[in-house]
Amino acid sequence: MCGIVGAVAKRPVAKLLIDGLKKLEYRGYDSAGVAVVDGECHLKRLRVVGKVRELENAMHAHPLHAQTGIAHTRWATHGAPTEQNAHPFTSHDEFALVHNGIIENHVDLREQLTKEGYQFHSETDTEVAVHLIHRYFSQTQDLLSAVRQAASELKGAFALGIISKQHPHRIIAVRQGSPLVIGKGQGENFIASDPLALLSLTQNFIYLEDNDIADITLNGVEITITISSE
Ligand code: GLU
Repeated sequence: MCGIVGAVAKRPVAKLLIDGLKKLEYRGYDSAGVAVVDGECHLKRLRVVGKVRELENAMHAHPLHAQTGIAHTRWATHGAPTEQNAHPFTSHDEFALVHNGIIENHVDLREQLTKEGYQFHSETDTEVAVHLIHRYFSQTQDLLSAVRQAASELKGAFALGIISKQHPHRIIAVRQGSPLVIGKGQGENFIASDPLALLSLTQNFIYLEDNDIADITLNGVEITITISSE
């Protein structure tokens, strides 16, 4: 097991994300990473093999000034525990995604996406998800609908957190078989695999159910359902 933390806020989130990941260390992991949309709407990402402490050190060397971000501790299931295979994954520097769980049909999806010209930079099952989102977003320019369409193609167990540089104050979260909770704050909102990660930020939680997709902004959380992949 491993962990996800995400935050949309009007204050810097990098430290909040690291503190949240530290609370999830008990779940076990082999690598850790964080991606943010910074004040200039650029996606920035840091990943390390090893402890959250090392991610924190990397962040001291390369500070991430941002008010929206997602973070992850990885328990490798597909692909060795390397920096290349650590989450978050990106597509065309536009989207970043973290994933808990296993995407069972990743081989077929990778083949399709490769034929369409997508380049893969990891050996993970996860990376297909971020490229699928890019593919659908390119068609519709609608982030929620792109994530919904992508999620409906994924088989397996997953919790996903997605940020986009075109939507700097927004996280889309999906739950299918892997736990994910939303923490509601005042003018800020959070996601995590376990409410424990967010207890210092809020006591107000919404537990996502299977097939839920959540559109999370500074002042709102809208939950709808993904199309079932059955
Ligand atoms: N299956 C994914 C991977 O190997 C996610 C593992 C996890 O849940 O940390 O990267």
